[in-house]
This record gives sequence, C-alpha cells and structure tokens, in this order.
Amino acid sequence: MSYRTRFAPSPTGPLHLGHAYSAILAFDMAQAAGGTFLLRIEDIDQSRARIEWETQIFDDLQWLGLDWPSPVMRQSTRLPRYREALAQLEQLGLTYPCHCNRADIEAAAGAPQEGVPQFGPDGRIYPGTCRNRAMSQAKPSDVIRLNMEKSIQLAGHASFRETGSQFHGPHKLDPDHLTTAVGDIILVRRGMGSSYHLSVVVDDADQHISHVTRGVDLFEATQIHVLLQTLLALPTPIYHHHVLIRDDDGKRLAKRDDARAIAKYRAEGATPQDIRTMVGL
Ligand code: GLU
Repeated sequence: MSYRTRFAPSPTGPLHLGHAYSAILAFDMAQAAGGTFLLRIEDIDQSRARIEWETQIFDDLQWLGLDWPSPVMRQSTRLPRYREALAQLEQLGLTYPCHCNRADIEAAAGAPQEGVPQFGPDGRIYPGTCRNRAMSQAKPSDVIRLNMEKSIQLAGHASFRETGSQFHGPHKLDPDHLTTAVGDIILVRRGMGSSYHLSVVVDDADQHISHVTRGVDLFEATQIHVLLQTLLALPTPIYHHHVLIRDDDGKRLAKRDDARAIAKYRAEGATPQDIRTMVGL
C-alpha cells in the first residue's frame, strides 16, 4: 500500500501553531514512508470560508517548507459527489429529513438525566423527533440526518487501526456509545449541501488516503467516519491522532487565537526551524 496522507484545513481563520504541528507531522511521516502528502481545502461552509484565508494557508505552508501536488482538492467543488454518497445512504434507508432547530431539540431533549450524555461530537444529541419522516417529505430548509441505530445494525461491527496517541492499537466501533453519546448525526447541513463528516469520508476515499494524521480532538469523530466508510463500502485508512498544542494556560489553540498565528511569528522574524522547535518537531 502506498502511503498517502493529507492536511485538510478549513479556510476560516489563520493557521496557528497547532495547525503547523499537524501539517509538519503529516508531511514528515509521508516523507519518512516515501509517500505523498496532500493538501485539501475544506470549504463547504461558504458562510465562513474566505479566499484570503486560503491564500494565507498556501503561503504559510510553503514558507514552512512543505509541498504537495496540484491541483488541490477543494470541497466546495464536490457537492455532486457528496450528493451521490448521500443517495447511497438513502437507498439503504438510513437517512431522514429533519426540521428541528436548536430550541426544538432542547425542548424535546427534556430534563437532563444523571449519567446520560447530552452532547456528542456534533452538539446536543438529537432526541429523534423527525426520525420517522420519509425522504420524500424533505424540504429545502431541512437538514438530513443519519439513523444511527439502523446504521449500527448494518455496520456496527467495523474497526480501525490507530498508530498515535494514547489510543494506540486496534479499535472496534462502540455501538452503545454511538447510539447514546453520538446519535443521529447531520449528513447535510442547512444551506451547505453536505457536512464535515460526509465530505471528509468521501474525500479521503477519493484521494486514496491510506493514513489520516490529525488532532486527538477528532478521535470521537473517527468512529463516525469509520461507520460511514463501512456503510458506503469505502476503505478505512489507518489513523494517527496526535497530541494538541496548547497555550501557556493549557488550553488548546483556536482559530481566533491570533496570538499564535504562524503569520504573526513570521512577521516577527521567526524561521521555519523556529516553528518546528516551538512545536517539538
Ligand atoms: N477541516 C478539519 C479541521 O480543520 C479537518 C479535520 C480532519 O483532518 O479531518 O479541523
């Protein structure tokens, strides 16, 4: 198997030290394996994506000494492909349209019960109000959800291999966790034509990604991705979830954390080697 990995930023803010760590690590691992490092622009959320941020991403990564093949995949050009994948899930009877807004979901979720999680990787766990609606009833203003229980019946046996982090080793999906702590995730968001989960799974497969390197904050999302890969009959890559770069107070860096932006260090005269040293690479 040839080693292919990717760095997949969303152009919604400046790259900071955490992104630099993730990108350099993926690049170095690909180099060490004689493989390929790809860049993918995750810009399906057109309300937040900005071309200026995309230009800055290219510039920062090149300055760091990374290179990648052209053309670069951009999610905003791939909606027909995501629609195909959605149709496949629809044919399996796993999708339904949902008109609930946040207030509806909160009201239907009721009072919190001790020991029962209320929030999953996508926000509040969906209580299932629209679960019996048919796809033929879908309106343009609806989101499309995945019926998690039915999905687990078909693909709950799936597994994946982890080579990084504290989770090193083989992993089976955890059907109980997926039903109670993740729930009916959104496959198509309002006005977006897709979602992070659906797009990333389709793109990793279409780009023949053999190894996914990304932050340990996405470990829970990986369960969702492996489930979707299995339902869509797509291969499951090997995963490497790396530690997160934190600020001096131990908080993980966020896009709005301009203080750690690579552009800022560059403006202050730092070298690419200084950035490597700062992130421990
Ligand atoms: N666009 C995602 C992010 O910036 C990529 C996550 C992934 O590697 O799948 O967090």
